[in-house]
Amino acid sequence: MAKNQTYSHVIQANSNKKKNIKLGILMYNTRSNQNLIHSNHVMKTDQTFVSNERLKVKVLIVGLGPAGTACGMGLARRSISVLALDRAYFPRDKICGDALPLFAQGLVNHLGINDRAPEMLCHSEIFERGSIHAKKIMHGKSIPGWRINVDGVQTQKPCLQAVKRFDLDNWLVDCCANRQLPMRFGWQVQKMRWEETLKQWLVEGKINSPDGVKVGQFLVAAEIVVGCDGAASTIQRHCRRINDRQPHALASRFYLKSPDDLCISRNKDCLISRIDYRWPGETSYAWAFAVPGGFNCGVAAMPLPMTPTPKRGFELLQLTRDWSKEIKQLVSSSIIQPSLIHTHQDVQISTMAIPVIHPSHQQRPPAGIMLTGDAASLVDPHQGHGIDRALESGGLAASVIRQGIEEGHGPERMTQHYQARLEARTRKWRKGWQQLKCEYNEER
Ligand SMILES: Cc1cc2nc3c(=O)[nH]c(=O)nc-3n(C[C@H](O)[C@H](O)[C@H](O)COP(=O)(O)OP(=O)(O)OC[C@H]3O[C@@H](n4cnc5c(N)ncnc54)[C@H](O)[C@@H]3O)c2cc1C
Repeated sequence: MAKNQTYSHVIQANSNKKKNIKLGILMYNTRSNQNLIHSNHVMKTDQTFVSNERLKVKVLIVGLGPAGTACGMGLARRSISVLALDRAYFPRDKICGDALPLFAQGLVNHLGINDRAPEMLCHSEIFERGSIHAKKIMHGKSIPGWRINVDGVQTQKPCLQAVKRFDLDNWLVDCCANRQLPMRFGWQVQKMRWEETLKQWLVEGKINSPDGVKVGQFLVAAEIVVGCDGAASTIQRHCRRINDRQPHALASRFYLKSPDDLCISRNKDCLISRIDYRWPGETSYAWAFAVPGGFNCGVAAMPLPMTPTPKRGFELLQLTRDWSKEIKQLVSSSIIQPSLIHTHQDVQISTMAIPVIHPSHQQRPPAGIMLTGDAASLVDPHQGHGIDRALESGGLAASVIRQGIEEGHGPERMTQHYQARLEARTRKWRKGWQQLKCEYNEER
């Protein structure tokens, strides 16, 4: 799919039609295998449609970021009645550092990003300063692939892959479209409830036009709901216990665009990204990751093991402003390609909470609900990466559902199976807390 082309469920209006006409059933995705219960579209006097969609599916995927698209790709073309929806229209931005962890690199390469859209990827070396890892190398411990460079350490090869989320997520949605996954955009889930008589989850919400105007509402009945709706998950909110508190990191992001704003490296073929643990005694760090057309920069205030509340918003903003001034000083000349960055503002700082994995507790949602990615609070508390875990947990949910359907299991059994497999996987991920604790103690 061409860049900037948006998926849309907007129905072509015939301008000659009279006002307030009932248009009956109009479906966006004709190949979908879900049961349509009822769909009405009423044209209002201002030419917008008010639609009332009622659908029944076996599996509903809420959110089409990395977790939702991984789940969607795993369930598409499988004769499973599935629907995936997202409140946004794509392409859309997502506040992120844009760095692909190893597992995510492997997966997007496997999906063919290198052949189909290599221009979206940026490879760079990493310069790291102030971390325990960097200090060890500086004090004589040799780690293969790393060398000392002035006051920090640097990789010998480009090993960081970054892709702007604007592009990555759009591309992942494109991969789902190629697999004919039924999708809806502009559909925002607002509430859900269990309907005992139907033995189904009823998920309700509103339908917005691309410019944010409410054009309708929907009600989807589903046996299984896969919550892939990110850090402020509506699905998670509806099924968590009141006292469940998840630790959060707080992070900020801004883009520095080429050609005017930057280039940290003079050599286009040898871009250098930076990770800078610049605040002694803290686990927070600043970054500048090379992306096509510039750098994604930001500050991550990671939660401390003893005090799981990170910095407050205004403190983070101040640190980020300082970092943006400093990083600009590092910019000497500009020789990389003209900007492809899609945020149109210069150094606009955005901040967002990151739901990191809990050191011991795991959420146990009710039967028929599977939480994935940020909605399941899976982010690494040490470095804040979560794209890999979102892709992995989304794929895991799909594989458990496929297997469950093949073996004739009900939603309850499938949910238990998913929880058990996720739990086994997260045992390793929780070690991030031990690492954080070690670093914190060493710093003190
Ligand atoms: C500042 C910052 C920097 C980060 N840097 C990195 C990094 O460099 N590398 C890395 O691996 N990770 C990074 N992360 C973490 C990473 O962004 C997340 O872990 C990852 O995006 C999680 O993917 P997801 O699919 O679970 O959720 P998301 O990517 O958040 O996708 C959720 C989707 O659900 C949709 N949605 C939300 N609510 C609703 C609703 N009610 N109804 C319908 N749709 C809904 C949203 O529109 C969105 O498309 C960073 C996070 C932050 C905040």
